[in-house]
Amino acid sequence: MEIRIQRREPGQLKPKPVDEAHLGFGTIFTDHMFVMDYQEGRGWFDPRVVPYQNLSLDPAAMVLHYGQEVFEGLKAYRGKGGEIYLFRAEDNFRRMNRSADRLCMPHVDIDLVMEGLKELIILDQDWVPRTKGTSLYIRPTMLATEPHLGVRPSKTYIFYIIIGPVAAYYKEGLNPVKIWVETEFVRAAPGGTGEAKTSGNYAASLLAAEKAKEKGFTQVLWLDAVERKYVEEVGTMNMFFVIDDEVITAPLTGTILPGITRDSVLHILKDWGAKVSERSLTIDEVISAAENGRLKEAFGTGTAAVISPVGQITYKGKDYVIAGGQMGELSEKLYNEIVALQYGEKEDPYGWVERIV
Ligand SMILES: *Cc1c(COP(=O)(O)O)cnc(C)c1O
Repeated sequence: MEIRIQRREPGQLKPKPVDEAHLGFGTIFTDHMFVMDYQEGRGWFDPRVVPYQNLSLDPAAMVLHYGQEVFEGLKAYRGKGGEIYLFRAEDNFRRMNRSADRLCMPHVDIDLVMEGLKELIILDQDWVPRTKGTSLYIRPTMLATEPHLGVRPSKTYIFYIIIGPVAAYYKEGLNPVKIWVETEFVRAAPGGTGEAKTSGNYAASLLAAEKAKEKGFTQVLWLDAVERKYVEEVGTMNMFFVIDDEVITAPLTGTILPGITRDSVLHILKDWGAKVSERSLTIDEVISAAENGRLKEAFGTGTAAVISPVGQITYKGKDYVIAGGQMGELSEKLYNEIVALQYGEKEDPYGWVERIV
């Protein structure tokens, strides 16, 4: 399918941010976006790169009532020589298709959306920031557009990709964050939508996150919904714990998001010969390891922050300091490794990195 390109008029280009040190996250978007439409019986049609613009939705559009939406989050990185790289982008679109299955939404053609993404980035390439640690955030989104108030899957959808320059996600940067172990609210139950990147999961997580923030915490650590016993993940990151010499992360049993950073960390650790386990881990095991000095490190993984070291967890009113509140050795080594791959500074043995400019 041919991708149509409609450029913004030169006189209407947006001013680019002058201060790359204060880009923030998710507030600045480039001049263009990729869009295509879907109709039952016809499939996806009219893929196009057009000026960034508002959507026009019928007030009865099904996404606004029943939340049929899926999204993705990935990044493009500027190398030292000005080149631009994508990191495992096809994996994001594969995951989007799996999320779409859960929400009764159509698949996208991976080759087509990859082409659309590349066309978009190439057109807006001057927006990819150059300051160390910055990147271009990419937000593919699909939503139900049919005007209809009966509860059933929509017959029409829109898919779009918006992009924009971002700083590091966490204000603290690589400084360790404080995590609140959530015992009242739950994020995802078995059989629910926890492994889909869909808007409703995030709406449902806001109250717990706001309460934790009021208490001075950056994120909540979710426990499993049934027994409130097993550690699952935090806000928008998967969690890893280093107990003695074992690196442990929760298994993909349907209630956590299958993170691509999580998967990258698992591959790299295995290559390093580390002892890695995808296994259920109880909060009691974490706490007792913290109490007797066996919990060496804890960190979250996600596209936005890459590796986010956890310096403290608080469970049932008690604070547990991890790695002396500092970034652990393994966390730092992993961070450096992944960042070096993403910015094209290191030979990529995995086939994860694609140069597009
Ligand atoms: C996106 C996300 C992650 C991290 O996934 P990555 O592919 O590594 O960015 C983890 N947990 C949740 C709930 C998420 O939404």
